[in-house]
Amino acid sequence: MQQKTEDTSIKRMAELLRRGATLTDLSCPACSSPLFRLQEGTLWCAKDEKKVIVIKEGEEPPKPTAEPSVNKGYDKLEATLLAKVQDIQGKIEQTQDIDELQKLTLALSELLNSLEKIKRMKT
Ligand SMILES: [Zn+2]
Repeated sequence: MQQKTEDTSIKRMAELLRRGATLTDLSCPACSSPLFRLQEGTLWCAKDEKKVIVIKEGEEPPKPTAEPSVNKGYDKLEATLLAKVQDIQGKIEQTQDIDELQKLTLALSELLNSLEKIKRMKT
């Protein structure tokens, strides 16, 4: 799938060059693929198939910084869930009630599932 999208964007780039566009050393702020300058002077991203406006030419476009803060959010969630896991673990050790034990183990397995999902989202 990934390979196919890659092929299509390369074909689009080739098509642009055939139509007289030139490859610039600028990269798309959204997908960081190389930008083309069309004959009329607009910058074009072949991958996104859209016009790109670069505010200052020759300057590195700002890199998107969303990812680290998203991971930070997951870290906090992970810490909260881990604290709950320890909490439930303590209760499981103390309880003599079978019904309560069942509820606790169910909650524990759901917490562990969530933790696993968070770990996957972080990578
Ligand atoms: Zn792009």
